Amino acid sequence: MQTTTDYAAMSQRLLEQLPPLRNFIGGAWTEGPTGETFTSINPATNQPIATVHAAGRAGAQQAVRAARAAFDSGAWSRMAPADRARALRRIADLIRQRADEIAVLETTDTGIPITQIRAGQVLRAADNFDFFAEMATQITGETYPVEGAFLNYSVHKPVGVAALITPWNTPFMLETWKVAPCLAAGNTCVLKPASWSPLSAYLLAQVIEEADLPPGTFNLVYGSGDTVGTALCADPEVNLISFTGETTTGKQLMRSGAATLKRYSMELGGKSPVIVFADADLDRALDAAIFGVFSLNGERCTAGTRLLLQRSIYDDFVARLIERVRRIRVGDPLDPATEVGPLIHARHLERVMGYLDIATAEGATIAVGGRRPDRPELAAGNYLEPTVIVDVRNEMRVAQEEIFGPVLTVLPFADEEEALRLANGVRYGLDAYLWTSDVGRATRLAPEIEAGMVWVNSQNVRDLRTPFGGMKESGIGREGGRHSFEFYTETRTIHVAFGRHPIPRFGATP
Ligand code: NAP
Repeated sequence: MQTTTDYAAMSQRLLEQLPPLRNFIGGAWTEGPTGETFTSINPATNQPIATVHAAGRAGAQQAVRAARAAFDSGAWSRMAPADRARALRRIADLIRQRADEIAVLETTDTGIPITQIRAGQVLRAADNFDFFAEMATQITGETYPVEGAFLNYSVHKPVGVAALITPWNTPFMLETWKVAPCLAAGNTCVLKPASWSPLSAYLLAQVIEEADLPPGTFNLVYGSGDTVGTALCADPEVNLISFTGETTTGKQLMRSGAATLKRYSMELGGKSPVIVFADADLDRALDAAIFGVFSLNGERCTAGTRLLLQRSIYDDFVARLIERVRRIRVGDPLDPATEVGPLIHARHLERVMGYLDIATAEGATIAVGGRRPDRPELAAGNYLEPTVIVDVRNEMRVAQEEIFGPVLTVLPFADEEEALRLANGVRYGLDAYLWTSDVGRATRLAPEIEAGMVWVNSQNVRDLRTPFGGMKESGIGREGGRHSFEFYTETRTIHVAFGRHPIPRFGATP
């Protein structure tokens, strides 16, 4: 069991050894053509921790050319699936070998508590490669025989070059969630990580370099969404865009790619309800509701940010909730005891706190939290006490807009009908959590909730085989299991005639 001191010493040592982060293009590390750099900040101290070379528009184009050349060479795209799978499993192994290092740098870069990164996110990242390696060997087509006349069948081929654009919340895991299926299907890619969390992508590129994939198969470019991101989306040589981020950014991306008609997978924002009926196991519901919104510092797309409580349990449940939330341990993210760390960036903290002002201005009440902790050792970081807002009406902005921090709004409901109306009364539809011991009610309600994923009597527990994604303004498309391959492969149909079916003979009559 590592201590805070161990992790802090490790973080310091790793940062001292960390060179300025370069782009990885065509199998080589490069500063990129612009000469521009930017700085990554430790959210716990607001001190700079890394210099990053921005690729700029020209660097993005170079990376796309490298990915295209690699794809066209066939070295990866035509490799036998079993060999591709072996290379991906090697990446998984290397991630596990470097798990401590990846976790410590990710925590230092993002402020997400080390225990949640080390045990959860980094191992999940390795699992993503293992899982999609296995899936790569199982890509099959379908046959549609027409007795005596045709054999029709479909094949799934890699599509080409993918731009993978990722956010700053749990960056390492989310990057692998895209890179692994993309490569497993035989595509090549350019990854552009978020500018607020560049460190772990650098380690991912190192790992992939060590796994010895053909040069240009995986490329990494740093730089702002406006320049590098836009350049990738607009590049005619890019076929696929897999994006995770805010809904407004997603719309912008689609505009950038429209002229060259991209295929998109969009994993966007959320405002997910946790609906608790009086007949539920209330102890488990309470644990899950708290974990669901305050883990990962509340910077989680699938966070259950709207707690809907049946009126008969509202007062008791809220009282227990407040007592528990008051005891959540906020602190140094490298401390294994910490449950909530600092938010990613001072600007993001300001935005989240702005919502607390909006809430009170609109007549809601902050029942617990809502302030920066007054402990001197936390003064320099982007810390916010876990916050619960009550006296909320569904039309208020805090009930409608994604806050993306450790903030929970609570609303009462009378019956199933009202629960459903509140749950569906937002523009988002990523996921939902339903708590009831009545199987009939669960079965009745779950499909009526407008969400890509509904968990019944559970927190968010991922099964990588299942489709993941949102509806409404939470996204387009599904990834996970075979659904990832529906996005990352081109389905082509081949019709083979046996030479016996009639062919109309135009012009045959003299
Ligand atoms: P964001 O601001 O939308 O940024 C995401 C990525 O897009 C970053 O790499 C960003 O680059 C880039 N980008 C920004 N503008 C761009 C443009 N015009 N063209 C191309 N790329 C552009 O999102 P975020 O603040 O990093 O992440 C939080 C959001 O992600 C939340 O809304 C959350 O719900 C969502 N999310 C969704 C899921 C899901 O599965 N549905 C999962 C996780 C997170 P820069 O960093 O350089 O700006």
